[in-house]
Amino acid sequence: EAPMQGLLDVQGLGIRFGGLDAVKDVTASIPAGQITAIIGPNGAGKSTFFNLISGFYVPTAGTIRFRGEDVTRLKTHQVVARGVARTFQTTTIYRELSVLEGVMIGHRVRTRAGLLDALLRTGREKRDEDASRAGAMRALERVGLAPQAHRPAGALTQEGQKRVGIAMALASDPALLLLDEPAAGMNPDETVRLMALIRELVQGGLSVALVEHKMSLVMGLADRILVLHHGQLIAQGTPAEVSRDPAVITAYLGS
Ligand code: ADP
Ligand code: MG
Repeated sequence: EAPMQGLLDVQGLGIRFGGLDAVKDVTASIPAGQITAIIGPNGAGKSTFFNLISGFYVPTAGTIRFRGEDVTRLKTHQVVARGVARTFQTTTIYRELSVLEGVMIGHRVRTRAGLLDALLRTGREKRDEDASRAGAMRALERVGLAPQAHRPAGALTQEGQKRVGIAMALASDPALLLLDEPAAGMNPDETVRLMALIRELVQGGLSVALVEHKMSLVMGLADRILVLHHGQLIAQGTPAEVSRDPAVITAYLGS
């Protein structure tokens, strides 16, 4: 019952799929102003954890609080409206649209009740549209893509397209950004640039939580690490602490 002090706090969080506890009894906090990494072997429940805290799944146990408010049962667009935005392991790129239009649509899809609502234009939406364009442009500036805003999204490199995915999330001006395996498929140079971008965003006041299965990648980036294994939180602490934790070493050796 003791109140936690994170930006986002989960208590006893769990979800079952059939007989499988994909996430089980997780109590943890994501602090403000830091980079928190959620790591664990494949199938550990990392993406499911993100799907829970971003409102894609409704938990079967436990609570989720954001800035002290109970958001456990809110829908995705309601969670986004409160300041939590996420990226996906794969980003849907609208290849023929401009980068800017793609970010605007990606943003709208996630801030409205549904895709249909996002695509329907009503009269009063002209004003929304201008605000959305300005927000999308600011998001592109933050990821270094402003000079490419008017190019077709399909003309970007894979790295550029990944940044579009981050810009889509930033367009809602979140306080907490959730990145699901942002470095997947990236070469070492691209990974270094991505890590620099994440640090820059945090220096600008954003809080970040990211999922990664490669432990080495988050060692030099994360302030704190949460380690999931078979859906459960088996360790948490600084990178140095978790990397010498016997339970973590065993979990990775066994995977
Ligand atoms: P990770 O991201 O750590 O690799 P996931 O969160 O994707 O792991 O998956 C954790 C477990 O939950 C896996 O066994 C996976 O098969 C299962 N799972 C995830 N989502 C669903 C779902 N929608 N329905 C059934 N099982 C699921
Ligand atoms: Mg995953």
